[in-house]
Amino acid sequence: MVDISLSRREGRELDTATEATVINHYESIRSDPEAFVHSCLFIEWLLNSITGSEPSHPMYHLIRSVLDNFAEGAPFWPVLCSGIEKALRLSGFSMEIDRCTRCGGDPGGSSIWDASSGGIVCENCRSGNSEKIPQGLIVFLRKSRNGRLDEVRNLKLWRGGYRQCFELMRRFAEIHLETRIKLKSLSVLEALENDR
Ligand SMILES: [Zn+2]
Repeated sequence: MVDISLSRREGRELDTATEATVINHYESIRSDPEAFVHSCLFIEWLLNSITGSEPSHPMYHLIRSVLDNFAEGAPFWPVLCSGIEKALRLSGFSMEIDRCTRCGGDPGGSSIWDASSGGIVCENCRSGNSEKIPQGLIVFLRKSRNGRLDEVRNLKLWRGGYRQCFELMRRFAEIHLETRIKLKSLSVLEALENDR
């Protein structure tokens, strides 16, 4: 991570870097291929999903916190998924998990998901667009929203659960950001996981 000072002269469209200082070069991430590829995937997600150039302190702290957790070593997936959930929220694309996104009512124990309407729907509001998702994903998203990354990193899901969570958030983001999220590091991560 680098602290960079930019200045822009009046009438210019490009910033000039006036000072750059390394905050942390994360030696332990660089030397661990798994930590490295998870970090790349998180950063790549942000590059795909954040627009605008205004500085954001909460986003800075989130990125730093995700990388600090990756630097601690495995597990990586809970931190990655929670980091993405928090990043979506900071960018104003929060997934609704407490109220039915159609009628605003209490969704009860529903785990019916409707990405296009913004999240969970109650039994009465399910439609052709909605899908039943594992209850554990809703539980994870709730815990991620209310917990710090170092608390969330110890949460366990079933085998493949975090990957499901990741794809759920990806579909959600693609609909609401109206863009395809292309992630080159995902195939590198898959190759690494298949090699294990
Ligand atoms: Zn409803």
